[in-house]
Amino acid sequence: MGNMNVLINKARIEKRLDEMAKEIEKDYEGKDIVFLGILKGSVPFMWELAKRIKNNVIFEFIELSSYKDNKDTGVLTFHKDIKDSIEGKDVIIIEDIVDTGKTISYLLKHLKEKNPNSVKVATLLSKPSKRVIELNIDYEGFKVEDKFVIGFGLDDNQNLRNLPYIGYIE
Ligand code: 5GP
Repeated sequence: MGNMNVLINKARIEKRLDEMAKEIEKDYEGKDIVFLGILKGSVPFMWELAKRIKNNVIFEFIELSSYKDNKDTGVLTFHKDIKDSIEGKDVIIIEDIVDTGKTISYLLKHLKEKNPNSVKVATLLSKPSKRVIELNIDYEGFKVEDKFVIGFGLDDNQNLRNLPYIGYIE
């Protein structure tokens, strides 16, 4: 493994999480919100965001991926779907990073069939330079350059998701 570099430190992440939480509270005043986390990378972001929000937040998880051995295979595989109904609910998809946009756009189509009242997208990170499918991100933590980032949920081939900061390997 090469040298680990810090791209976004813990303090910056926490400050941004406070801001994002405030925005969400303002947009969903008095409403329950379903946080739909995409496993596994969204777990730390989901918790850190949810605990800053006064609304009642319901946790749901879905698992789908196109990555294998740190490479984008281009084929999305569904591993786990939502168990409970989200019909009539206000859903925010919680993602670690939006790269090509394929995962989110696929998921948005999939969720439509479940008739939620609304669906928005929150992501900790976004790589706009890699976008293949244009999509609207409602809550975006940080834009990052085209680097393979790890930590705060993001993995290096399943490892190092527990780093408390966003880093990259040189
Ligand atoms: P998309 O469908 O938007 O291309 O891909 C999103 C998924 O790709 C993310 O949920 C994440 O699992 C993976 N991914 C994309 N870029 C990175 C990266 O820089 N680091 C890590 N660890 N995963 C990434």
